[in-house]
Amino acid sequence: MTQIFDNPADFADEALDGFVAANRGYVARVDGGVVRSTEVPAGQVALVVGGGSGHYPAFAGLVGPGLATGSACGNMFASPAAGQVYRVAKAANAGGGVLLSYGNYAGDVLHFGQAQLRLNAEGIETRTVTVTDDIASAPIDQLGKRRGIAGDLTVFKIAGAAAEAGLDLDAVERLAIKTNYRTRSLGVAFDGCTLPGAADPLFHVPAGQMSLGLGIHGEPGISEHPMPTASELAELLVSRLLDDKPEDAGDRVVAIVNGLGTVKYDELFLLFGKVEKLLTAAGLTVVEPECGELVTSLDMSGLSLTLLWLDEELEQYWAAPADTPAFRKGSMAPRAPRAEAAIDDAETADVEQPTPAAADLGRLAVEILAQVRDVVVKHEEELGKLDAIAGDGDHGIGMRRGVDAAATAGEAVSGGSVARVLATAGEAWSERAGGTSGALWGSAVIAAGQSLGNREAYASGDAAAAVTAFVRAITELGKADPGDKTMVDALLPFRDAFLAELDGGAPVDRALAVAAAAAESAAARTADLRPLKGRARPLAEKSLGHPDPGAVSFGLITARISHFIDSQLATVAAAGELSATAGNGAQA
Ligand code: ADP
Ligand code: MG
Repeated sequence: MTQIFDNPADFADEALDGFVAANRGYVARVDGGVVRSTEVPAGQVALVVGGGSGHYPAFAGLVGPGLATGSACGNMFASPAAGQVYRVAKAANAGGGVLLSYGNYAGDVLHFGQAQLRLNAEGIETRTVTVTDDIASAPIDQLGKRRGIAGDLTVFKIAGAAAEAGLDLDAVERLAIKTNYRTRSLGVAFDGCTLPGAADPLFHVPAGQMSLGLGIHGEPGISEHPMPTASELAELLVSRLLDDKPEDAGDRVVAIVNGLGTVKYDELFLLFGKVEKLLTAAGLTVVEPECGELVTSLDMSGLSLTLLWLDEELEQYWAAPADTPAFRKGSMAPRAPRAEAAIDDAETADVEQPTPAAADLGRLAVEILAQVRDVVVKHEEELGKLDAIAGDGDHGIGMRRGVDAAATAGEAVSGGSVARVLATAGEAWSERAGGTSGALWGSAVIAAGQSLGNREAYASGDAAAAVTAFVRAITELGKADPGDKTMVDALLPFRDAFLAELDGGAPVDRALAVAAAAAESAAARTADLRPLKGRARPLAEKSLGHPDPGAVSFGLITARISHFIDSQLATVAAAGELSATAGNGAQA
């Protein structure tokens, strides 16, 4: 039971505030998470980790010299929003680029991915290594689908030590990839965990049973077993991990016995003793092991075993010193505190002076967002019903929440450049919408804004570039292919028609009308497809005969924008005629 709180909704935030208050020598609070409060040498690669809260010491407890530079901290068991990751990474960046590293979960991949696009577009070179150590989550021929559990620590530790040693972003990334490839974990659970304020645990393991391979948020395990003895448990974990060992494994391993929440240290040590004997008997040498709580799940009863097969360079970085609130190794020279201004500057660095043209375009963007809000509200129910056929029924409400937040946030910065308006709106969209489509729309809106920038003048080529950037953000992040039955099946025909019309010399409004028509008919044609991406995939057959909700909403939105632009032009033209008539009248 998690029982110490005022308001459960504030649990993650207030726990983080208290953590910072207790560890000021290590960490400083920034909007979205924490960064080191000590000096980071200029040019050092920034390692930014993160994920949901409720896994302490992961992730904020691992911030300090020799390990992470910053941590983005989401709500309980929920990914941090892209804006949080972006702000933490900006504050952590010391000029050497950023490596994002986190457990491989769909929400985290979308949000960290969105932040990465944004950081790269701003010239902060950013790479990603997701941790995929949990052998229970996918077979060995699908390593990329595995989720991350306690193997976070080996990957973060080695990447952090490499950054500390002054290696560049390429080298730090390569070492993180290698460490992840050579790290394997397997967990067991004896009982579930309860989110603050919840009446019941997230899941249960029947009394007297043990669930093998159950994820750290209660994702289903691979099998249930009667509660084993410690020796049987050690044997089970060791044998499964050795069966899954990487191809080029040597005979020196790091072993980590990790407690998930309520298993006592004495029990963990008892198990570790047996694990070590088995590994030694298998001809392995155990190097600088760890035994304790390293990645937890609130009050979950369970534990995991992690093995990292070392080679010479990995062993050097694993053994290097580190000094963080929760993980200390060797000894490090004390660090000077980081100047407050450096942390604050990072947060407020993007205040700009908009050009008149970019401010005008920004105001048009605000008006367009209001139109998009209006059309989404009108169709909210219909979109929800469409999503309920094979998805989870939240597309209407998610789109409404997202665009509502985006329109309001955009309006609040009206007068800023189009880049600023769309960055603010897109961030609000993905933060408030929740679902996959919200993260994709938010990121696409930001990308379109970045492409338009803050220029002295705009021409139709800029519209082409903005549409291209919008579409690219969605395909890069979502990785859906044409025919997967997603919004991409409406996006690509839209983009192609728009670019072709402009190429043929059409004005932007005409190109938009043709492209919107193409998007609407392409959206309707998705009824013939089976979904291959997203939540609707498991219910593919049910979805046949119905169009994809994300494609339909995209078609509706583009049609509305096109009508709006036409009506604006008509108003301008009418006003023009009026003044011309007035002029003629005066002459007569
Ligand atoms: P969720 O799927 O998280 O419930 P929504 O219901 O708001 O989010 O959105 C569902 C829509 O998102 C789908 O109809 C599809 O068009 C779109 N979508 C889902 N996954 C992807 C993806 N990987 N790439 C592009 N679009 C996607
Ligand atoms: Mg949905």
